[in-house]
Amino acid sequence: MPRKLAAGNWKMNGSLSALAELEALAAALPPAAPEVLICPPFPYLSPALAKAPAGIGIGAQDCHAAAKGAHTGDVSAAMLADLGVAHVILGHSERRTDHGETDADVNAKTQAAWASGLTVILCIGESAAERNAGETLTVLNTQLDASIPDGATPDTLVIAYEPIWAIGTGAVATTDQIAEAHAAIRANLQSRFGPDGARIALLYGGSVKAANAAEIFAVADVDGALVGGASLKASDFAPIVHALAAS
Ligand code: PEP
Repeated sequence: MPRKLAAGNWKMNGSLSALAELEALAAALPPAAPEVLICPPFPYLSPALAKAPAGIGIGAQDCHAAAKGAHTGDVSAAMLADLGVAHVILGHSERRTDHGETDADVNAKTQAAWASGLTVILCIGESAAERNAGETLTVLNTQLDASIPDGATPDTLVIAYEPIWAIGTGAVATTDQIAEAHAAIRANLQSRFGPDGARIALLYGGSVKAANAAEIFAVADVDGALVGGASLKASDFAPIVHALAAS
């Protein structure tokens, strides 16, 4: 079975005082909780790692493809590993849009992350225009083929399917849309990576909240969620973790 994972992406939100949410979240977890990850902005990684209670992992939101060098403002995978970070989100649509990241960039960053022993949460997803044009599965397959380097395993890779039109908008994909996308992603991974492809965890992301989490986690091949807005407060995120634990 793939791992079950509830990952929170704080994006460019949070503060030192907001790290108190980590304790609150740990206190609100179910007894047999699935894997829980919070990905704060870079400046808060160290204090978050120092504060993180048992049961809460700390991940990063990006890394550079190079090991080191003249890349002002960037952070290498080796630096993240040096801190004790074990997971990194790569290819988020906001990075693809804000920073022009391509599938080739995401592929190079993934190789760098793996070279430093990190697990990559690799984001893919179609725009509204692509969905309306009937291109969703073509887009997803292209992104998977070009973004994932050879040699992916369930320990080194998690895929997050995040329809761009559903991120931060309150518009959630229907369960049929999620099922169709996740089935296609699973088929792609199995055809390329064999039995390993069947065990790579697939997360859904896009306006997941307490009210819709159970329905989403009941969809075949949904192994968890990548959550933005609803991960900022323990009181919003904990019910999502409970729904995943019960799924
Ligand atoms: C995300 O940031 O990956 C995301 C899915 O955001 P939200 O849950 O706010 O839609």
